Amino acid sequence: MSKILKNIHSDLAFTNNLINWGKSFGRKNLPWNPSYGKKIDPYKVWLSEIMLQQTQFRTGVKYFERFIKHFPNVKNLAESEIETVLSFWSGLGYYARAKNMHKAAKIICSGGKVNFPKSASDWKKLPGIGFSTAAAISAFTVNEKQPIMDANVIRIVARQHKLIERIGSAKLQKKIFIICSKHLPKSNSDMPIYTQSIMDLGALICRPKEPLCDLCPVSECCLSFLEGKVGNYPVKKKKVFKNIKRVSWIIPHTQDSIALVQSKDSKLWENFWIPIEIQENNLIPKKACFLKRFKLPISNFIFDISVWGILCKRKNFEGGVRWFKNSNLNEKPIPSSVKKAISFL
Ligand code: SF4
Repeated sequence: MSKILKNIHSDLAFTNNLINWGKSFGRKNLPWNPSYGKKIDPYKVWLSEIMLQQTQFRTGVKYFERFIKHFPNVKNLAESEIETVLSFWSGLGYYARAKNMHKAAKIICSGGKVNFPKSASDWKKLPGIGFSTAAAISAFTVNEKQPIMDANVIRIVARQHKLIERIGSAKLQKKIFIICSKHLPKSNSDMPIYTQSIMDLGALICRPKEPLCDLCPVSECCLSFLEGKVGNYPVKKKKVFKNIKRVSWIIPHTQDSIALVQSKDSKLWENFWIPIEIQENNLIPKKACFLKRFKLPISNFIFDISVWGILCKRKNFEGGVRWFKNSNLNEKPIPSSVKKAISFL
């Protein structure tokens, strides 16, 4: 009985301390938060949640502001060409996020009316929206009580409770879900501040490296801190050795333009413009000039890329290429690693 009471006490202390801390020290004036007296915009919250996945906060904010300027509402996004959307995502990586947002925007705007989902379970039905993202959006927009379980939360909870299961394992997810469900505030109206505070705690205090435990509002119930073992948690994934793929990129170019082809690879850069890719060295054209070699880690592979240029007098080159003016490249959907290769010309 006393153990149960102790647990309830520490769950309550965690939630209250976290919310109080968030009110005073959490991040304010985020560009997706409404200005005083204005209603929260589900489109901005949704975009911020998607953009900040696997992206550093500062970079995410910069891209968010640029994106919102061009696509100020979900209707603009739904009515835009995917190529334009991708050009505003170029450099952020994980392009499936942009493609899924575009598809989801079309669903939200289908039938001539804008219909945002009203619950986490409905958000989850849209392409590219997982459990935690749906929970965060509905916590911010309709105060729904759903626990978020992003990387920040997983780190905090694993350290608080000294969880020994590895990151990414189903066992860890299950435990975190149970613990996070108990941490939810009593009142629905506290859901936005609670959700923002736990995100902020992970980003500002319980950081992946060098957490600031002395400033932490929930250190009194943190088992790994109390035992001086913070560095042991969360338990990392087993190291996976990546396969190396060797490819050559051929870039025909003139003084002021370059030629690229549109990628058909649905898993990687579909619809993006990339160099002509050649797997066999003996197929590299004789007139190609070797420029540089670089490595590019993507999911379970490391691409070992050799970049070759072919200087052309005129803009004619076989192989289904399209020519782009160098001065317009930033407006086109071109991955940042391709821009890096172009810079070697
Ligand atoms: S005490 Fe340290 S390890 Fe524990 S939650 Fe706070 S910052 Fe994270």
